[in-house]
Parts: sequence; structure tokens; C-alpha cells
Amino acid sequence: MPEQDPLERSRNFFEVNLGFTEELAKTEALRCIQCPKPVCVEGCPVNIKIKDFIALIADGKFAEAASKIKEDNILPAICGRVCPQEEQCEAMCVVGKKNEPVAIGRLERFAADYERIHFGIKIPEIKKKTGKKVAVVGSGPAGLSCAGDLIKMGHDVTVFEALHDLGGVLIYGIPEFRLPKEIVKAEVEVLKKLGVEFQTNFIVGLTDTIDELMQNGYDSVFIAVGAGLPYFLNIEGENLIGVYSSNEFLTRVNLMKAYRFPEFDTPVFDCTNKNVAVFGGGNTAMDAVRTSKRLGAKNAYIIYRRSEIEMPARKEEVHHAKEEGIEFIMLSNPVKFIGDENGWLKGVVLQRMELGEPDASGRRRPLPVKGSEYTIDIDMAVVAVGNGSNPIIQKTTSGLNFNKRGNIEADENTMATSKKGVFAGGDIVTGGATVILAMGAGRKAAAAINEYLNNPA
Ligand code: FAD
Repeated sequence: MPEQDPLERSRNFFEVNLGFTEELAKTEALRCIQCPKPVCVEGCPVNIKIKDFIALIADGKFAEAASKIKEDNILPAICGRVCPQEEQCEAMCVVGKKNEPVAIGRLERFAADYERIHFGIKIPEIKKKTGKKVAVVGSGPAGLSCAGDLIKMGHDVTVFEALHDLGGVLIYGIPEFRLPKEIVKAEVEVLKKLGVEFQTNFIVGLTDTIDELMQNGYDSVFIAVGAGLPYFLNIEGENLIGVYSSNEFLTRVNLMKAYRFPEFDTPVFDCTNKNVAVFGGGNTAMDAVRTSKRLGAKNAYIIYRRSEIEMPARKEEVHHAKEEGIEFIMLSNPVKFIGDENGWLKGVVLQRMELGEPDASGRRRPLPVKGSEYTIDIDMAVVAVGNGSNPIIQKTTSGLNFNKRGNIEADENTMATSKKGVFAGGDIVTGGATVILAMGAGRKAAAAINEYLNNPA
């Protein structure tokens, strides 16, 4: 896919990937061999009819291809950009056994963009109104996909969102250069046109509890509050000025537009010509470090305690980060942040690691090398070592079962919880996962909620 030049893009927030042209899309679609049994679909958590939509693209029927995708996925322009297809549908692609797999994700993105740009997103039909009301808590991909399916089934749906903007991680976490906000807004707009109501600045558990929502006339509730509570390193100096959690850093930049301070009044540390270290090896770490480069960092480091092979980030993001000049410091673990006399961060002590036997995650365990500590100078640090669940729902809702990590326990087929009429899905059930898994959970929950509303006993 055509891309912005790495040097140029590392100084702007415009999208890195530029998308297929019509000609490239057709050529790519013709690589699909239209398998009688398309195993790629088994790799897709929402079972998009991949073979069919690709055949439509090959035929030049681009808008029809978008409609075909939307039979199973209400957010195709988003998924086409951020889903880890290389581990899902494309990993199963038969063409991929000997050659590059068919670029399913890029074709999905092409079809969705084509429809939006040329015709505006087509609004699906909805069934006759049932008179039943569902509350969806959280407007991330799980909440949005559940709301989209339920409204089409004829139920009234209200989405309650704690923040002032809609989309969850899609809007406050994933940066503009990977997923432009206008794409998220356009796909949310479809739900509004379908009749989904949205209430922002509404923290369920504080503004109203789940029980209060049910007393106020909601027949069922879907909890999709994600895993937005950042983990920290718990090392000395972590409270120095200049140390951020990835949530805070990315939220300030993405949602609050800190890079346009003072036009937008929530600033972020001025990275211009500074050294920035981001700790972690996932997509969040890549997003944070590439953001710091765009904010002007002279040296932007990824510091990870295992080796590159064990990094959970998408390969494409790692590749893009390297092209943009991000430096990768592998097999190193922070042991202490160092500050100056005024409490500002000025360095970090790292300890070298070596890899031992695989641990519970299946990845080789990092083991500290004694006496190997060394120090590097940094002005800003971002901690991107994972997220847990926010305890608000747990503290304010009776009758819901949680596991020891604070995730809601839900049936994996129906997403039903231990509380009657209450369903849950997405990161709040699985812990931090992917957009498409969250959407898959939202869809399963919608089907089960529909069933429950029709047969509430
Ligand atoms: P979220 O997207 O977290 O949405 C939950 C929503 O609920 C939020 O809007 C939150 O404000 C709201 N909320 C929370 N508590 C309450 C409350 N009490 N009341 C009302 N609202 C509440 N996945 C990929 O597939 N590809 C990627 O490239 C990728 N990159 C990522 C980059 C970053 C920086 C991060 C953080 C994650 C990334 N992920 C990626 C993971 C993916 O974004 C998540 O798995 C997915 O967003 C989870 O969806 P969700 O709907 O469960 O929760």
C-alpha cells in the first residue's frame, strides 16, 4: 500500500498508509483464488464474508463490497486499519501458504473508504420497533457493535459514555496517524442515524449505577467499559515530573489535542529536541513512541525487557516505527528513574536481561543479568506495560461476579453475566485484547440480549 515518506510523516499526524487506488485494489482482489471452503473466514472473529466481498472488488463493484462487509461488521473502515489481520484472516489465507497472503484488511479498508467518499455510508434497514430498551455502557468497539446490532433488531438503545467523545480507545488511544478521528466519527454517525442515543460525560457507577439504569426502565444492560486503568512499573522515581502513563500521554494528545496548545488548553510535556523513553512492547508503546517523535523528540526509544521476537505489537507498527527513526533498546528493564533537585526526570537506570524458559504467556521469560545496570539520559518517560479494569462497576454493582484480575465473568457464547439481564464483553471481560475481539463480543451479546428480551424468563 502506498505510504507517506517516513521522514516527512515522522513530523506530522497525517495517516501513514494512504490506501489502495481502484486499480491496486482490483489487482489485489484478483489474487484471491476464491477457495470453495474459505478458511480465511474462520480466522475472522466476526465471520465477514471475505471471499464474497473480494469477488465484488475484483468485479469493480466497490460499494456492493462495502455492503457485503457490513452484513457482519458495522465498523469496516476502522477494522481495515487496525485489526491484526496477519494473525487472523490473512494467517489462514491459502494463497499465503506459498506467497504473500491476500491483503484482506487493506481491501476491507478500500471498500469502506470508497463507499464513504463516493456515496456516504449507506444506512442499514431496521426492524419494527419492539418497545424494549437497552443500556450500553461504554462507546468502544464492543459497545458500538452491540448497539448497532440491537438497534437493527428494533430495540431502543442508549449508549452511556464516561468521556466527552465517542469511540473508546479508537478515539483516545489510537493516534490520528493510524486511525483518523474522522473515520471513527463517520462510523459512529451511522449509529446515530439508525437512532442509537448517546449520552456522554456519564460515568455509570457514579452518575447512575447499573441497578438505577434498570430501575429507570432499561430492560437489559451491556457492560463494555474496557480496560482503561494503567499499570505502572512500581519503581523508584516513577512520580518524577515527566513520567506519564501511556493512557495519560495518548489521551492528552489524541483526545485533548495537546499538540495544538495553547489553541487547545491541555498541554503535554514539550518533547522538542528531548530524549523520550517508552517502556513496553505492545501497540500502545508503539503509538506512544511514534507520537513523541511527531512532537519533536530528538531521540525516541522503545525499551523492552524481552527481545523483538516476543514483542506483542503488530509487525507493521514495529516496521513503521523503525522507518521513522525510533531506536529499539531490547532486553533491558528499568530499575530506577533519576530526577534533578527540582523533581524533573533526567535519566533511567536500566538492567540488562537474558531470556530463559517460556513462562505462562508462552514467551521466553526475561531474567536479570547481575551487575549489568547502566544509565541513559531521558527527559520524558511513558509507561506502556498494560492496563487493568477500572473498579467503579465492581464497587457499585451487586450480583456481578468478577475474576481475581477484576474482569467481569461472562459466558463466552452469550456474554451473559451472573446478574439477570446484564451482559458484558470486550476488554472488561478478556483484559486488554483487540478491536475485532471486542466487536465479536458485542455482536454475541446483542444476539443473546435479543433472545433474552424476547424470552425474559
Ligand atoms: P474500550 O475501547 O476501552 O472502550 C470502553 C469505553 O467505555 C471507553 O470509551 C470508556 O471511556 C468507557 N467507560 C469506561 N468506564 C465507564 C463507565 N463507568 N461509564 C461509562 N463509560 C465508561 N487493538 C487492535 O485490534 N489493533 C490495534 O492496532 C490496537 N491498538 C491499540 C492502541 C492503544 C493505544 C490501545 C490502548 C489499545 C489498542 N488496541 C488495538 C486494543 C483495542 O483498542 C481494545 O482491545 C479495544 O478498544 C477494546 O474495546 P472495548 O469496547 O472493550 O473498550
